[in-house]
Amino acid sequence: MKRVLITGAAGFLGSHLCDRFLSEGFKVIGMDNFITGDEKNIEHLKHESNFNFINHDITEFVSIDTDLDYILHFASPASPIDYLKIPIQTLKVGSLGTHNLLGLAKAKKARILIASTSEVYGDPLVHPQSEKYYGNVNTIGPRGVYDEAKRFQESITMAYHRFHGLETRIVRIFNTYGPRMRLNDGRVIPAFMGQALRGEDLTIFGDGSQTRSFCYVDDQVEGIFRLMFSDYSYPVNIGNPNEITIKDFANEIIKLTGTAQKVIYKDLPKDDPLQRQPDISLAKSLLNWEPKVNRAEGMVKTFNYFKGLSDKELNKREHKDFSKHIKY
Ligand code: NAD
Ligand code: UDP
Repeated sequence: MKRVLITGAAGFLGSHLCDRFLSEGFKVIGMDNFITGDEKNIEHLKHESNFNFINHDITEFVSIDTDLDYILHFASPASPIDYLKIPIQTLKVGSLGTHNLLGLAKAKKARILIASTSEVYGDPLVHPQSEKYYGNVNTIGPRGVYDEAKRFQESITMAYHRFHGLETRIVRIFNTYGPRMRLNDGRVIPAFMGQALRGEDLTIFGDGSQTRSFCYVDDQVEGIFRLMFSDYSYPVNIGNPNEITIKDFANEIIKLTGTAQKVIYKDLPKDDPLQRQPDISLAKSLLNWEPKVNRAEGMVKTFNYFKGLSDKELNKREHKDFSKHIKY
């Protein structure tokens, strides 16, 4: 059996990747320090004989005492509010953490796939965004801690590929959603769904004319799986090109949830990208991949997940307390 290490395993995407690799017959080692993740995302794997979990902060040296064939590096805060609250941890996990994982991959002769993001395009001046676009990032703005960590992550990954001949893969993930997102992580989908379920008004940042293109988690996982087993070392966009303004999206959520509430407007966060849509021609031709789950279907599945949370979880409005995970 092949063995895979998945960092960020207790997070939203990492936990779905654990499920997928286990179902494909891999031995999976999950690694996480729970800073933005949650133990309950991997609770169902507790008695799974092919799953092991290591509680570890990957910004510290990473040691694995068995062979490894593959590494999926997904550890990093991913929500703008999360990474604004822990900016230094975000920079460290993308830089020092990635360096540790690349060193481990080299020592184990393992292939490594790293999770990059559409944020490498910043507030894009080219639309839709193809892998050829170099981006428009404000290095010193509040989002710079995430965007630049991810850009550094791509650079060091390519350096390990070119200099050490390491087998590397880079996925540029566009907004992905589904069950196991943290309700209070501040991202727009859990935010709107939590507000609808609690009977609060939906908070639109700015005038709501900014766009996003939302990809359901199963489609994202399929794209990542195919990329890992392709022979392509350069970045590949994986996302759903179906673009919508945040204002229209809020109205879709109001209809879906049947809430009697309305929308209210708050300030647009600094450097919030005004438009985002992946050009997925490369993924289509290289991986024969395209998304299959439309937004209506994916949102129902996601809403059913949030509806199933306990009242206690639903009413945890305040942001997660990160203090016990932080070491300087
Ligand atoms: P998430 O916050 O749910 O998961 C991230 C996980 O990484 C959490 O479980 C967290 O505890 C863990 N982690 C963070 N720092 C760590 C550290 N130093 N050591 C060990 N574990 C650590 O977020 P997600 O949405 O699942 O995102 C996963 C990855 O995908 C991230 O790298 C993110 O940048 C990338 N990504 C996600 C999206 C998306 O739309 N979901 C979009 C672009 C990129
Ligand atoms: N947003 C919003 N209301 C919220 C949360 C987010 O209008 O309560 C907006 C946010 O300003 C951004 C979009 O929704 O334009 C997507 O935000 P998210 O935090 O999900 O991720 P981003 O794509 O910005 O990384």
